[in-house]
Amino acid sequence: MNSFQKISSLVVIWSVGNYAREYFPMLNEKYAPVAFGDNDAKKHATDLFGIPILSFEEIEARHPGCLYYIAADEINYLNVLNSLIEKGVTRSRIIIEEYKEYKSCLFLENYMCYENYSVDTEWSLQFCCANSDGSNKSPLVRGRDYEEAVYNFFAMRDRIIDELNSSSNFMPSPCLNCCMVNMGSWRTDREIRRFVLSYPGTCNFRCVYCCINDMINCNSNKINDINRLTEESLRFLKFLRDKHYINKHTHITINSGEILIHTMRDKILEALEDNPCFINSNISQYNEKLAKILSIKGNALKTSLDAGTPETFAKIKSVDLFDKVCQNLCRYASQTHVILQYIFLPGINDNERDIDGFIAILQKNEIKNVQIKSDMNNTLKLNKNTINMIIRLTHNAQKIGINISYVLSPFQKQQIENKLKALAKP
Ligand code: SF4
Ligand code: SF4
Repeated sequence: MNSFQKISSLVVIWSVGNYAREYFPMLNEKYAPVAFGDNDAKKHATDLFGIPILSFEEIEARHPGCLYYIAADEINYLNVLNSLIEKGVTRSRIIIEEYKEYKSCLFLENYMCYENYSVDTEWSLQFCCANSDGSNKSPLVRGRDYEEAVYNFFAMRDRIIDELNSSSNFMPSPCLNCCMVNMGSWRTDREIRRFVLSYPGTCNFRCVYCCINDMINCNSNKINDINRLTEESLRFLKFLRDKHYINKHTHITINSGEILIHTMRDKILEALEDNPCFINSNISQYNEKLAKILSIKGNALKTSLDAGTPETFAKIKSVDLFDKVCQNLCRYASQTHVILQYIFLPGINDNERDIDGFIAILQKNEIKNVQIKSDMNNTLKLNKNTINMIIRLTHNAQKIGINISYVLSPFQKQQIENKLKALAKP
């Protein structure tokens, strides 16, 4: 079947998580789903993008014989598939895309990252954002021009995956010891599903954890360099589109200081108009164009509040703009999907006042998705108090129907999982 041919039977997307949200435009075009389904009772009787979210029983009663599309990433795919089969759904009613089981990683399978921080180097591409788990360096490929860099990227990706699955260690893979490698069911098309574009920028905040702080105090020479690198990055994006290395369903993320104060802001926003995208912003400003792009289904605004009180906000961001940011959050959240982040900084924002203040903000603005992160400069074990505050935020947010996801190092994830398991015991 052509990958974008519409299926005539009724299709339900199971289940409602980040995958369904992110890939909705593609799924909608391909399947025109009649409903979403999920086991979580808190989501029932609500909707996503105007499509109802139903329980399994309701789906079977309203749409008998419907087909199910499993909206799950490769790590969770088999579990979700098996849970539907356990409910009595036959395989013939599940839309099976082509998968193969082998060792790989989410980034190798789906990502292309382009970092353009220097005016005079060769083109370089990566598979993941370096050191995302604190234990490894991202493999890097270079080329003398766009075409060569992309060719080398695909060749190296295939080589790494072959090496991960080979019993001989003749040429050890650069990903060999990375904790992100796992046995999974991977889609055989190996399409680039996410493109991350990073180039220098400036910012009006000075977050304590920010890795671009040294770029922030820009003189006019630096601004010229920033603009050149931005132009170049946007040209590369166009090249990838023109050559069909990415398509209109590829998710684009831009990492470059604060987009709303970039001198080329409008050009960058225009370049994002044709693709689903996550836009990172500190939302110290409200911008109509940004709000319009974000209101497109599948797009999302990612912003990091990290506090529930003005004092803590100012301590972390070095600006006294908590009220302004909260006002803008209210405006953006009323028109678009917002993912609100809380980066835990031990001794600064891991206290009850901030967590409770943050929960009140979530409630007031009807935010549905929260990402809990640790400072990527500190991927070591979390202390007891920070763990307790992560659990407090998780529990109180989940009580009001908010989805929580974690971006933590493997040790930290394990610590949180252990604590949640211990609390769940009667
Ligand atoms: S270094 Fe780790 S996260 Fe990056 S591509 Fe390799 S396996 Fe994936
Ligand atoms: S708002 Fe973002 S870009 Fe600006 S200083 Fe903070 S982390 Fe860095």
